[in-house]
Amino acid sequence: MFESLSDRLGSVFDRLRGRGALNETEVRAAMREVRIALLEADVALPVVREFTDKVTEQAVGQQVLKSVTPGQQVVKIVHDALVEMLGADASELNIEVTPPAVIMMVGLQGSGKTTTTAKLAKRLTEKDRKKVMMASLDVNRPAAQEQLAILGRQADVATLPVVQGQQPVDIARRALQSAKLQGFDILLLDTAGRLHVDQGLMDEMKAVAEVADPEEILLVVDALTGQDAVNVAKSFSEQVAVTGVVLTRLDGDARGGAALSMRAITGKPIKFAGMGEGIDALEGFHPDRVAGRILG
Ligand code: GDP
Repeated sequence: MFESLSDRLGSVFDRLRGRGALNETEVRAAMREVRIALLEADVALPVVREFTDKVTEQAVGQQVLKSVTPGQQVVKIVHDALVEMLGADASELNIEVTPPAVIMMVGLQGSGKTTTTAKLAKRLTEKDRKKVMMASLDVNRPAAQEQLAILGRQADVATLPVVQGQQPVDIARRALQSAKLQGFDILLLDTAGRLHVDQGLMDEMKAVAEVADPEEILLVVDALTGQDAVNVAKSFSEQVAVTGVVLTRLDGDARGGAALSMRAITGKPIKFAGMGEGIDALEGFHPDRVAGRILG
């Protein structure tokens, strides 16, 4: 991921790094290249503007230009600004509550929501040693509930038995009761996907949230859709109290625009990154590591 941005920035900064002296004109020229690199990575224009204005202002300061290693200082300023843009505070899940902690998964159809639900369930089971149950509330797509059950068997995670004909709010109620009775720490609710941001399904999601009172509402979006992913996140956030974003298919995203714009545009932290189709391919999203990866 981020290959092209990383290459572009790498060549800009290689030129600066070794220099014992830099003047303002050179720094401004480098910052113009940073701006172009971010735009080519499909980062939203207002985000690019804010980023380059801030970085340029700091980088042309006398303390930087007069220092012994001005090039390195400029790179450090860019690094710190990238971390901030990605959402400096690495965000943990809010799951240390009286069990069961409820995590509701929402998103468009095909975003990778069901796969991510199973990946997250496995991660919470193995890494965090939690007792996890999953339940599918998707009664719109035939076989959606069965898909989650199959993933549950693969991941060795319990799923709520399917009762044909039951509606989402009732399934949520039953899941909650069952999780309480059976002593599960975490209940993951996989809600129905939607083709686009559609009012009927938004209302269903709100009704489920009211019954389930989730600790986390995680929005799953596909990184490959670039700025659309950010726009989708913005629309969802306006309707329900999204607490974090899971960005899927980051493994195939050479540009990284969605990841870089998400926090600034939606105000929501990216909490996890999908890095492949496998059930283990889910990573925590750590802004400092990502910035480090981008700057090489
Ligand atoms: P849903 O309709 O949102 O529930 O989507 P699914 O969970 O059924 O996923 C759709 C497809 O995307 C499946 O083939 C998944 O294996 C694939 N997928 C999901 N997450 C990732 C990811 O992070 N990387 C890659 N490469 N594929 C993914």
